[in-house]
Amino acid sequence: MARGKKCYACGRELVKKNELGLNKKLIDPETQTFYCLECLAEYLEVDVEFLLEKIQEFRSQGCVLFDGGER
Ligand SMILES: [Zn+2]
Repeated sequence: MARGKKCYACGRELVKKNELGLNKKLIDPETQTFYCLECLAEYLEVDVEFLLEKIQEFRSQGCVLFDGGER
């Protein structure tokens, strides 16, 4: 499942498919740069809450980049 991506900003390991999927959705589907939720929020100048809502939204659309079992 996860392939050992690390947050580009803080180095935290990203183990959640939802975090990786959100990076792809909000930055670029081909991105090689991944951020954890907190750093992604900072990068995009939004709240972590907003990102969590986005994850819910993409999941409810059945996006394959996200899965339902985590959190
Ligand atoms: Zn980070």
